[in-house]
Amino acid sequence: MTVKVVVNGYGTIGKRVADAVALQPDMEVVGVAKTRPNFEARMALEKGFPLYILAGRESDFKNAGMEINGTVEDMLEAGDVVVDCTPGHIGAGNKALYDSVGIKAMWQGGEDHELAGVSFNAHSNYDEAFGCDYARVVSCNTTGLSRVISTLDNAFGVGKVRATLCRRSADPGDVKKGPINAIIPELKMPSHHGPDVVTVLSNVDIDTVAIKVPTTLMHLHIVNMDLLQECTSDDVVDALDENSRIRLIGDGISSTAEIMELARDMNRPRSDMWENCVWEKSVNVSKDGLYLFQAIHQESDVIPENVDCIRAMMEVERDSAKSIAKTNKAMGF
Ligand code: NAD
Repeated sequence: MTVKVVVNGYGTIGKRVADAVALQPDMEVVGVAKTRPNFEARMALEKGFPLYILAGRESDFKNAGMEINGTVEDMLEAGDVVVDCTPGHIGAGNKALYDSVGIKAMWQGGEDHELAGVSFNAHSNYDEAFGCDYARVVSCNTTGLSRVISTLDNAFGVGKVRATLCRRSADPGDVKKGPINAIIPELKMPSHHGPDVVTVLSNVDIDTVAIKVPTTLMHLHIVNMDLLQECTSDDVVDALDENSRIRLIGDGISSTAEIMELARDMNRPRSDMWENCVWEKSVNVSKDGLYLFQAIHQESDVIPENVDCIRAMMEVERDSAKSIAKTNKAMGF
């Protein structure tokens, strides 16, 4: 079975989802939807993705010399599943449309858990999304935390988790957001990130606090957790190393800037780093529990998760490990 996938919202996440889906042997992109005839719309056409638009904007695209296949409504008729990658809280407004067409729908972390009822991370709860009509692939931060917590929970059992999130202030291509010279503490405590992890891993006891820092490259998490079984720092490193979406960082890499340089050296598309990047030397088990630092590439860690979520919802692969391996191989992990 080849799953026909449509992507509504072709920005930072949508264009990456479309590229990753196009690489899969069991999926094809049958449409992407744009609101404006900008350079991303032009690139979609150059890549051969059928382009659809919001009704009423036909003349904008015509004037820009871009050929369109129809409206978002037409696009939905062509797909088995829609991946909604519109900006946060816009996607919720599309649910009635998706329901009227009878298409399965996935949203991103900018929407609330309640919209879909299932919040997804492949290593943590693949089975929950199996065969379901709606799912939400959780945010970049929640994805990064879920991967580490579920991996260590399987290996040793996890007790209390405390995480401090140093969040990038904007994506590199985003010229409208800041700060560019300030650090902004999130005054709501705990921050919303901890409860979001619980939408994926319902038994986890987690508190998070967050600050926004003037960088666009990556988020950085300072994680502390109690492990239920006795183990050493080396045992934790070995357990993390087993997860194909966690990369142990060493070789003199001391910053997020060098991780992005590594991604460029690896010829990763758009210099994406799909894996959590855990500094091996930061992994420390003591009487106060485990400490580690990890960097999260906000633009890309959720992309392989979107692919696995499609496979689960469309019931094309029952086994999470097989889906993860298929996705990784096709994307070139
Ligand atoms: P973005 O602004 O880069 O892209 C959104 C795209 O949707 C744009 O092309 C925009 O033109 C289009 N759009 C806007 N309104 C639309 C509408 N009504 N119908 C169709 N398309 C519309 O946003 P993004 O960063 O890709 O975020 C998308 C989702 O992914 C959000 O839920 C966000 O929270 C989540 N997310 C973002 C990141 C990140 O770092 N950027 C990481 C993880 C998850």
